[in-house]
Amino acid sequence: AYNFNAGPAALPLEVLQQAQEQFVEFENSGMSLMEMSHRGAIYEKVHYEADNLLRELIGIPSGYKVLFIQGGASTQFAMVPMNLLRPGTTASFVATGSWATKAIQEAKLFGDVSIAASSEADKYNRIPSISELNYASDVAYLHLTSNETIEGTQWSEFPDTGNVTLVGDMSSDILCRPIDVSKFGLIYAGAQKNLGPSGVTIVIIREDLIVEPSTPVPTMMRYTTHAKADSLYNTPPTFAIYMMNEVLKWVKANGGAAGMETRNREKASLLYDFIDNSNGFYRGFAQPGSRSLMNATFRLGSEDLEKQFAKESEAQGFSGLKGHRSVGGLRASIYNAVPVESIRALVSFMRDFQSRNG
Ligand code: PLP
Repeated sequence: AYNFNAGPAALPLEVLQQAQEQFVEFENSGMSLMEMSHRGAIYEKVHYEADNLLRELIGIPSGYKVLFIQGGASTQFAMVPMNLLRPGTTASFVATGSWATKAIQEAKLFGDVSIAASSEADKYNRIPSISELNYASDVAYLHLTSNETIEGTQWSEFPDTGNVTLVGDMSSDILCRPIDVSKFGLIYAGAQKNLGPSGVTIVIIREDLIVEPSTPVPTMMRYTTHAKADSLYNTPPTFAIYMMNEVLKWVKANGGAAGMETRNREKASLLYDFIDNSNGFYRGFAQPGSRSLMNATFRLGSEDLEKQFAKESEAQGFSGLKGHRSVGGLRASIYNAVPVESIRALVSFMRDFQSRNG
């Protein structure tokens, strides 16, 4: 199938095949990696290799910790304010779409929230420009969502926030391109788009932010707990981390973050150029300057036509093109592992669909 699912998403075929080979018996150990102690040398090697590869490929400077946490990025919506919001301080958010909104709602459970900028009036079809951002210099942190998976928008550059801690939800575009980690105090990302299967969430946190919260926070929800134990405080999701490690090796073999960017730009241009040249039959949802390299959202002339597109494409082996139920329309999620051949096949289907319905 041509896999355009938004998440969990396509994984590199080579990685799945490799995992299949190693599934029952891992490296002549007589057992599956899934059956082994997370305190044993074999698993620990995988665990630290994944940590090192993330550092190398994302370009994480010294002075940052990488944590492997369960509960998905949705749990980080709570953990970030639980750990970084102090009584009497405010967290500021850039309201860019559905996922930013969820992060905002969750933070409100723990303290005061301000909105630094919002594109709600434009139905979240754009990322506010850096000059629109307006937040007090004493906020606990400024939170942004680097890629809005549902609306299909993506930040093209990140603000310099000086002394204000910048927090980024990079769940749907981590490792799709090189980034400057040093602009951020904390980055989090669920693995299930660009890094592997669901089950592990990575948190990249600057060491000065790893401090005991001033209010009672459950042990498992404190960054200090996971940082002190190198993410081995309790049983980590060993299989998900093993799979992530294999995906990272694949990213490295394919040119790292820069290689991913070249590949992703080629894929995204193929699709957006086709949409822009379809004489209005297909209409991109996101404003051109805010278009995502990872989730291309588009509309057709009517909802009936969109339904027909979703149905016919599914029948022809294109999986996951129906837009998110909250916004409708169509969406092709074209994460790192989606090969350019899948985009070519999709464009060819779209051309054919237009010729039959245009
Ligand atoms: N943030 C973004 C940008 C996402 O795309 C998603 C899931 O799609 C989430 C957060 C929530 O992630 P999880 O399902 O891991 O909780």
